[in-house]
Amino acid sequence: MKKLEKLYEGKAKIIYATEDPELVVQYFKDDATAFNGEKKGIIRNKGEMNNAISSAIFRFLEDKGIKTHFVSAPSEREMVVRKVDIVPIEVVMRNVTAGSLSKRMGVEEGMLLPKTVFELYYKDDSLGDPMINGYHVAAFGLCSAEDLAEIKKRAFRVNELMQEFFSARGITLVDFKLEFGKTADGTLLLADEITPDGCRLWNSETGEKMDKDRFRRDLGSVEEAYEEVLRKVTS
Ligand code: ADP
Ligand code: UDP
Repeated sequence: MKKLEKLYEGKAKIIYATEDPELVVQYFKDDATAFNGEKKGIIRNKGEMNNAISSAIFRFLEDKGIKTHFVSAPSEREMVVRKVDIVPIEVVMRNVTAGSLSKRMGVEEGMLLPKTVFELYYKDDSLGDPMINGYHVAAFGLCSAEDLAEIKKRAFRVNELMQEFFSARGITLVDFKLEFGKTADGTLLLADEITPDGCRLWNSETGEKMDKDRFRRDLGSVEEAYEEVLRKVTS
């Protein structure tokens, strides 16, 4: 699919128009950012790895009946997806304590949560993606109550499916971020990417981190960790 004009360049991906108004190309870059863009770097071959990882996970989810924007991955860094208007909400699902949840609740990382935690953040970089709840979604018109209910239902289902998927590959799905969007005809789809950039993935046996925390926290072997996730996800 031919890439036409650049529609948007984000921190990790570029969105290009195509000849089909309903489709766009997501081009995966090697750029990595953390702490709301304060820390910048490159993870070598991340673009290729994340495209392959995300494609494999979207294919798996589609097979299980989850509607995603994924259409195809025609080249190593390009994913053709259905064009959506992104709902400006980042949904975070958590199975094990880590990151901002550990900070907010004053608990150590790595505690298995007795119930999955569902969180919403307002997707706005200039505000640092603040945490919100359903009342903010309604009061600020971020999406309809019906869409929010559907997003919640799907996020829990995706969590169940992804937990099984990763656990079968020796990986604990600690937490992850999802984005949803709506096509021109009003269909709600899971969008963006599902990669180690937006998921915490720990080796189930050793507890070793296999995600962007290696970059955020300068733990080293970042590329190797992404490679290992790619190997496991595609095996
Ligand atoms: P950011 O905007 O956070 O820097 P990226 O670098 O990943 O993020 O940029 C990709 C952008 O494309 C994101 O804003 C994401 O919400 C958006 N996006 C993801 N999937 C689609 C889609 N199917 N159609 C249109 N936009 C999308
Ligand atoms: N996350 C993300 N984008 C964001 C914020 C968080 O992909 O803008 C992911 C992050 O990789 C992790 C989960 O969401 O898997 C929960 O992140 P947390 O709230 O703990 O924030 P952090 O401490 O990582 O900034």
